[in-house]
Amino acid sequence: MAANAERASDAQILAAARALLAARYVIALTGAGMSVESGIPPFRGPGGLWTKYGEPPMNGYQIFLADPKKAWEDRIRRQDDELWGPLKVAKPNPGHQALAELEALGVLRFLITQNVDDLHRQAGHNALAEIHGNWKLIRCIECGARFKAEEIRLEVLPPQCPQCEGLLKGDTVAFGEPIPPEVLRQCADHAALADAVIVAGTSATVYPAAGFALEVKQRGGQLIEANLYESEISRVCDLSLRGPTGEVLPRLAAAVADLRRARLS
Ligand SMILES: [Zn+2]
Repeated sequence: MAANAERASDAQILAAARALLAARYVIALTGAGMSVESGIPPFRGPGGLWTKYGEPPMNGYQIFLADPKKAWEDRIRRQDDELWGPLKVAKPNPGHQALAELEALGVLRFLITQNVDDLHRQAGHNALAEIHGNWKLIRCIECGARFKAEEIRLEVLPPQCPQCEGLLKGDTVAFGEPIPPEVLRQCADHAALADAVIVAGTSATVYPAAGFALEVKQRGGQLIEANLYESEISRVCDLSLRGPTGEVLPRLAAAVADLRRARLS
């Protein structure tokens, strides 16, 4: 832990809550910092899986396409390794729950996540796009349909799409694989409507996700970050709420709910 354990003040939380309630259309962008708080190791940085084991091949998708049967065999063998193990036991943390609450309050309209861990869904979030896919799902690379992993029979590899007999692949987007266009379109549509973005657990430097947040800012929208440390995105944020997302976001959701109640009474 850094010596600098800065925490957002109540005044900052209140200012952010007011900004959210003043906005017409709020979206959120979330990243690895939220997963880390649920015990999922990051890929990059100190203690990151890629730092430890080396980066996966940059042409992972092409390797998959060249020999899908072998790729599926590798995937099945890897089910219990250091990445998949934590994903299986991870639970949504109070940060995931707070964003789901903001959605339930009608304040947060859409969530874009770079995380593949399924935790926003498990927290009850409905309107979301997982731009790097979801580790629990299988996707047809022909028709784009998604299936729960347990719905797909693996007696014959590679498995075929039950709808179109196309090639099935894990939904997680591999290096070299295009992000499914309908996911990008959805993100762009919601970003175009947004006048405020909550950036949580991410330095928002990885494209295309970062672009959606910055686009809203460029149009004059509000950028509110909830991040443990100052990062690239902090410089352009209107409000920076420092602290773990599992602590800051519940305070923010509570402040929004309080203001709402006060206005209604
Ligand atoms: Zn299909």
